[in-house]
Amino acid sequence: MSVLIVGSTALDSIKTPKAENPRLLGGSASHAAVAASFFGPVKLVGVVGDDFPKRYVQLYRRHGIDLEGLQRLPGKTFHWSGEYETNMNNRRTLLTELGVFETFTPTLPKAYQTSPFVLLANIAPALQLHVLDQMRRPKFIAADTMDLWLNIALADLLKLLKRIDCFVLNDGEAYQLTKADNVVTAIKKLHQLGPKYVIIKKGEHGAIVSTPKGFFIAPAFPLHRVVDPTGAGDSFVGGMMGYLATARGAIDDNLRRAVVYGTVVASFCCEGFGLNRTTKLKRGHIELRVRELAGLTKF
Ligand code: AMP
Repeated sequence: MSVLIVGSTALDSIKTPKAENPRLLGGSASHAAVAASFFGPVKLVGVVGDDFPKRYVQLYRRHGIDLEGLQRLPGKTFHWSGEYETNMNNRRTLLTELGVFETFTPTLPKAYQTSPFVLLANIAPALQLHVLDQMRRPKFIAADTMDLWLNIALADLLKLLKRIDCFVLNDGEAYQLTKADNVVTAIKKLHQLGPKYVIIKKGEHGAIVSTPKGFFIAPAFPLHRVVDPTGAGDSFVGGMMGYLATARGAIDDNLRRAVVYGTVVASFCCEGFGLNRTTKLKRGHIELRVRELAGLTKF
């Protein structure tokens, strides 16, 4: 089954203590779509400007990503720039140029409206809601967000939470939204806002998954070297949704394994700038690392 992914399609300029790379292919939807593509068919919804390099369109195509829902508008592609401290958990946004995102309305091609799996990657909650309005009875809807929307679009985000199955957010955002002072209380409060499944990402410390059947604790894959963590969260949720869409059986039976696959794709993402490492992966590399992670966590 296919996954429909809506989110940002961006040019990212990224600075780490060791290097600087301008105008890489980025955006929440780009990272999530490439991650999901290792498992099954992906339909992308986004917008780019007329400055969007052809080689990035070819890169999407090489991953078999359906681009019927990618709009090209006159103007500039969304441009985001960020800088990491020596501790790569700390990132500062230097610049956000909305460009064509300012007037973007995600209109779904007919063939997209029946996609069974929907990933609302990080983008304004009003746009995430607009996508849901056009869907016909999807089987499973997951949504990601960021602190910006908690600050400037909270009412829309709360509306969205009532309409999704799974909410994925990082621990800082969970505390900000719920005002809880520990993760278990935060999860309880998040379920009360709507979603049946809640996943809290904790960066290099892994993720906590909460389902009607209880918790699953997923550690991150221990990396020797983090080159650039941009897009790790998007790769995590993209890999998870890609796996879920192609696995047989109930969500509850597959979610743990899906989260491990998401964790592993995210670990590869951190090993290169932008999508540089992820786009060189083969499914076999992912399987090997999943087995390694299973060995590291067995007791
Ligand atoms: P992550 O590292 O998982 O937080 O995701 C980073 C990605 O989010 C980058 O590729 C950016 O292009 C994208 N991004 C940054 N700010 C925004 C925003 N305001 N809306 C949508 N996407 C954004």
